Amino acid sequence: MSDCIFCKIAEGTIPSKKVYEDEKVLAFHDINPVAPVHVLVIPKKHITSLATMEKEDQGLIGHIFGVIHNLAEELKLQKGYRVVNNCGEEGGQTVAHLHFHLLGGRSFAWPPG
Ligand code: ADP
Repeated sequence: MSDCIFCKIAEGTIPSKKVYEDEKVLAFHDINPVAPVHVLVIPKKHITSLATMEKEDQGLIGHIFGVIHNLAEELKLQKGYRVVNNCGEEGGQTVAHLHFHLLGGRSFAWPPG
């Protein structure tokens, strides 16, 4: 989508600090980190949110979780980490391109605010 910031990051027209890239997925450091490790993992394909994903995207989302698994090892998050998807208005989603936050390097409280 032409006006989507994460599509532009995926195309390379907006810069990002990449930590992983393949044909279908990109991972990059969040511009406003809320933990010592705060990486966003996105599909390169524009999917607005988990709520609007198509059935055909299920394999891609499984692949994203494999990428998250590998990144957590590479980023030495052996003490644990949190994976967050904010979906829609009440979920706190501000960027309308599906993304998963990989957060680590500190302890996290539950329940979230
Ligand atoms: P929230 O903003 O409440 O965390 P989201 O789950 O939609 O909601 O997350 C969007 C994330 O994208 C935020 O953590 C924000 O800091 C990050 N972000 C926005 N623009 C950029 C950018 N250009 N590069 C890296 N991260 C970005």
